[in-house]
Amino acid sequence: MAPYLVDMASDYAVKTVGLTKRYGDKVAVDGVDLVIPRGVAFGYLGPNGAGKTTLIRMLLGLTRATEGEMYLLGEKVPDHSAKALSKVGAIIEEPRFHGYMTAFENLKIAAAVRGPEAEARIPSSLERVGLIDRSNSKVSSYSLGMRQRLGIARCLLNDPELLVLDEPMNGLDPAGIMEFRYLIRSFVDEGRTVVISSHLLDEIEKTCDAISIVDRGRIVKQGMLEDLSGGFSGSVEVEVDDEALALEVLSRMAEVGSVEVIAPKALKFELVSGAKASQANAELIRSGVMVERLSPLKKSLEEEFLSITSNLGIR
Ligand code: ATP
Repeated sequence: MAPYLVDMASDYAVKTVGLTKRYGDKVAVDGVDLVIPRGVAFGYLGPNGAGKTTLIRMLLGLTRATEGEMYLLGEKVPDHSAKALSKVGAIIEEPRFHGYMTAFENLKIAAAVRGPEAEARIPSSLERVGLIDRSNSKVSSYSLGMRQRLGIARCLLNDPELLVLDEPMNGLDPAGIMEFRYLIRSFVDEGRTVVISSHLLDEIEKTCDAISIVDRGRIVKQGMLEDLSGGFSGSVEVEVDDEALALEVLSRMAEVGSVEVIAPKALKFELVSGAKASQANAELIRSGVMVERLSPLKKSLEEEFLSITSNLGIR
């Protein structure tokens, strides 16, 4: 392997090159070139069966790749898995604990294999996920959301640079999802990288800075969320003093494709291709309409990927 590729890989939390996993004739992960920058929340988004869990399992050394290369925090894996994984915390599917033991006892067992520094982090980890007051309760009394948070506390025992969470919000109620999102963002604020796999577009859009969309083992789109969404949709909302006059003015403009009144003193119109919102603004003012607010509307990620998502079954 050429050394330059290793150097480039160290810039990323995760980098894969042509990563492939076959089960017999079935290709679960198909030539994936994944690039996850450091210090972001990254969404690995795809429908069930797209190969998300398989990719995560390969990264963590739980299953072997059929082909390709993987780098975790700059270390080539599986060759240097031990070094890389010492800085990684992961939850695959639902975190498992001994239900008859308390949260504290469960973390003590987990810390025992990680060393004294991990043991010293138990109280702060429990505090961090909001479970310190319940740390002496048996885990069997915990809700799913509490068990997920305890899973995160266990990840924090080795102060990870990278957290990998497979479908972490599955089964959580809206309050649990909010808490989880807040936790993830706080980890990113500390400079950690958080990778989340999910089949829910909305969840990823609200939580992540960068994403890959994966379908049938292949990446179909990847990049920073702000670059992938947020283009001008062609629609403009405007607030005016006189909606009847504004309707009349906009309706006769060649630059405006369609226009409707959406609320008292508020209209929405579509610009024809190449036309600018400022042209409509100027014409309204020229015609004596007071323009209180004019907002060109951005495309949501959902709109941007409508064609992909409708084919893939991502909700
Ligand atoms: P889900 O969210 O449903 O788990 P996923 O995107 O994580 O979906 P994977 O679990 O990685 O998808 O599965 C990808 C494909 O590989 C699926 O078609 C699955 O049936 C297949 N697969 C996964 N593990 C195995 C295995 N051990 N043996 C054979 N096929 C497998």
